[in-house]
Amino acid sequence: MALERTFVLLKPDAVARRLAGEILGRFEAKSLKIVALKMLQVTAELSKQHYAEHVHKGFYPLLEEFITSGPVVAIVLEGPGAIGVVRTMLGPTNGRDAAPGTIRGDFGLSRQMNLVHGSDSPEAAAREIPIYFKPEELLTYSASLDPWTCAGDEK
Ligand code: UDP
Ligand code: MG
Repeated sequence: MALERTFVLLKPDAVARRLAGEILGRFEAKSLKIVALKMLQVTAELSKQHYAEHVHKGFYPLLEEFITSGPVVAIVLEGPGAIGVVRTMLGPTNGRDAAPGTIRGDFGLSRQMNLVHGSDSPEAAAREIPIYFKPEELLTYSASLDPWTCAGDEK
């Protein structure tokens, strides 16, 4: 499994509901490494870039209203298979359908206000990370716990 980087956005509901630390803690406990992190307010323009595939859909105006409604936390996480691992941790889009144990399943009931975005493919991660971060904002570092992430033949 390749070492991957994935883009994660803690949406305005996660910040407003004071769940940012709890959610970030789940990713850290999973052994994913934080390589970039910042708090920002998404503008309408940024929303259209991020959600380019959804801009023409019926739900988009309300999605834009929601995602621009308050601060968010943008994060890049790194780890073996990080893209799929994060999607599995999020659960399905609608919190009502998401199983207990997943983030969306444990903390919400909404299809729109589902707390966290995670890149759904390597192509999406490669497109989304530079929308939010300059190359120099992505930090490469080794940490003393790295050897405990997985065995050498699992990376
Ligand atoms: N969304 C929404 N209404 C819908 C479908 C999606 O408001 O009917 C929002 C929701 O916040 C979701 C985001 O749009 O996370 C992107 O939709 P997608 O289908 O890509 O879901 P995801 O990949 O986030 O699970
Ligand atoms: Mg999606």
